[in-house]
Amino acid sequence: MNIIDELIENFSRLPSIGNKSAARIVYHLLKQDAHQAKTLAEKLSVLHEKIHSCTICGAFTEEDICSICSDERRDKSIICVVGYPQDVNTIASVSEYRGLFHVLGALIAPLEGIGPDQLRISELIQRIHDGNVEEIILATNPTIEGDTTALYVQKILQSLPVKTSRLASGLPVGGDLEYIDRLTLARSFSGRINFNEE
Ligand SMILES: [Zn+2]
Repeated sequence: MNIIDELIENFSRLPSIGNKSAARIVYHLLKQDAHQAKTLAEKLSVLHEKIHSCTICGAFTEEDICSICSDERRDKSIICVVGYPQDVNTIASVSEYRGLFHVLGALIAPLEGIGPDQLRISELIQRIHDGNVEEIILATNPTIEGDTTALYVQKILQSLPVKTSRLASGLPVGGDLEYIDRLTLARSFSGRINFNEE
């Protein structure tokens, strides 16, 4: 197997990239000057070294504490709880939301062997105890796993002195937060359902 075939195979293992797309990427890189491929290779080689989880919220960051947690202008009384680090970027791009985040790191999925103990729930409870948190917005994906997780976390938080809400419907069921457009996401924030008033 030559290096072209090897690279095509490597790229085709990435999500949403089939064999044809993988081939297109490799031939594209060959057509461009060598600099583009080198830059890509250099960035990839330090990706895992440079990026780690924010010690507070669990989002991806190059620092100990991410730019959102260290931003003094953000509203520290609201925490938006998401499943995965990339969800923070998606929601942060909705300018309406000015609070903080908490990444659970996974969603409850019994069939895949993922239980509540694998989620960063105790860290969330600790943050509520430590700070002046008044509201928790559960913004896990609108999937079965996301809903199960939101319900579970909501039950745990019931005994704590915080208001808990879930992003309003309007989000496509079974979808991923990262594919939802800004307007829909902004709307679901302003129309979030408050569990404490049900
Ligand atoms: Zn953070």
